[in-house]
Amino acid sequence: MSNLEQTLSIIKPDAVERNLDDEIKEIFKSKDFIILKEKKIQIEKSEAEKFYKVHETKPFYNDLCTYLSSGPIVVMVLEKENAVLANRKLMGATNPKDAEDGTIRKKYGISIDKNSVHGSDSVENAKIEIDFFFKD
Ligand code: UDP
Ligand code: MG
Repeated sequence: MSNLEQTLSIIKPDAVERNLDDEIKEIFKSKDFIILKEKKIQIEKSEAEKFYKVHETKPFYNDLCTYLSSGPIVVMVLEKENAVLANRKLMGATNPKDAEDGTIRKKYGISIDKNSVHGSDSVENAKIEIDFFFKD
């Protein structure tokens, strides 16, 4: 049975800074993701804090929010069968050191914090995150 989903993807500042955004978009397209919406923006730290609120008690929260707001990012709505899980698999583990060959984080990630991409971790969170960036 078909299970078309949408998920939120972010190309993070470390990757945009290295001009990897087009290359990473091509990887998504080559894996049959449709880029339904996209925009290149820079967000305020207060917006990053809202986006990553789920992590507010973590020791890395402040640095994470400083980092996500430190430069331009590319925010995309990706569509594909089982897009949420497919994107998580294509991204690879949070720490690029642990990411499998062929994943985006293995190829481009610099460190656990500068790991090049974000992807929603559930269908429910994907809806919330898509709304966060694309609610008209
Ligand atoms: N992060 C970090 N240090 C850690 C764990 C996470 O800087 O020890 C950052 C990293 O950029 C990660 C983000 O916080 O992508 C969100 O963490 P999460 O556990 O949700 O990882 P993800 O879902 O991005 O794989
Ligand atoms: Mg996460």
